[in-house]
Amino acid sequence: PQLANQIAAGEVVERPASVVKELTENSLDAGATRIEIEIEKGGAKRISIRDNGCGIAKDELSMALARHATSKIASLDDLEAIMSLGFRGEALASISSVSRLTLTSRPESQEGAWQAYAQGREMDVSLKPAAHPCGTTLEVLDLFYNTPARRKFLRTEKTEFTHIDEVIRRIALVRFDVEFSLSHNGKRIRHYRAASEQKQQERRLAAICGSAFLEHALHLEWQHDALGLTGWVADPRAAGQFSELQYCYVNGRMMRDKLINHAIRQAYQDKLGADQQPAYVLYLTIDPHQVDVNVHPAKHEVRFHQSRLVHDFIYQGVLSALQSATE
Ligand code: ADP
Ligand code: MG
Repeated sequence: PQLANQIAAGEVVERPASVVKELTENSLDAGATRIEIEIEKGGAKRISIRDNGCGIAKDELSMALARHATSKIASLDDLEAIMSLGFRGEALASISSVSRLTLTSRPESQEGAWQAYAQGREMDVSLKPAAHPCGTTLEVLDLFYNTPARRKFLRTEKTEFTHIDEVIRRIALVRFDVEFSLSHNGKRIRHYRAASEQKQQERRLAAICGSAFLEHALHLEWQHDALGLTGWVADPRAAGQFSELQYCYVNGRMMRDKLINHAIRQAYQDKLGADQQPAYVLYLTIDPHQVDVNVHPAKHEVRFHQSRLVHDFIYQGVLSALQSATE
């Protein structure tokens, strides 16, 4: 199993940031409202993610580390309407095959916490009691220690941390209800407090995207049948200064999508009468049966069944927000 897991790891675990993404998404799937991320040496030495989510029972710890073990999908029908972030059951198995991973967890219903550690060719899991509050901590040490070719491809500490920071920004932009803290080499770098009211959310938006973006942002709320679009688009006259600031989420997942970008760009063009790279943070909600997200584990791709409809909906929504800009 170790070799198979290492091969799978090649798809899921490209660098420390991909580990952080997978583990943070697991914490979110577990219903966490607070997630603490500690990084050492750009993640090459240590990645630790602690959450206050539902935890994993002692009997289920080994399963969690096994390949294709997921608690999130029970049937093929679930697969067609995925709402959780994870669903392949590959992340923990893959990560533990290329690092020294320990999993410590305690569900509320359980007396104490237990810790699991997988090792050896067969990835045998050993369990021991541990001290831990309700929730889960994943600690990943020495990433790629046993795959030197991959380890060699790691960039500088600073570059790897920048990628991790970006992963957390993307997630923090869609989960305002969750508190995130991110530290590097013992120093706290980010702290996003849970934000329920729009004012607090805008403070987080400004912290992540810059206060200039917030200043020029037009708030958007658009709805048609089962389609919804909310978020912010930059005033087209100012958008030029926010190049690359394009965050789009489909049912809570970050996506890079040509169709969406095209629709927004066209709205900008029709409003401005000139071509302009748009800047936006947008959230699309759509009936999960109307999209495929099961394209590739690491790529942010999506397929809409009715792409024309989605395109026009986004175009109209953005255009109406742009029309509201004061002249
Ligand atoms: P997936 O997320 O695709 O189900 P993973 O390999 O990422 O697969 O995780 C395997 C399983 O371990 C999950 O289905 C879940 O049951 C459990 N798990 C992982 N991380 C956590 C966590 N932070 N809190 C609770 N359960 C977790
Ligand atoms: Mg997962």
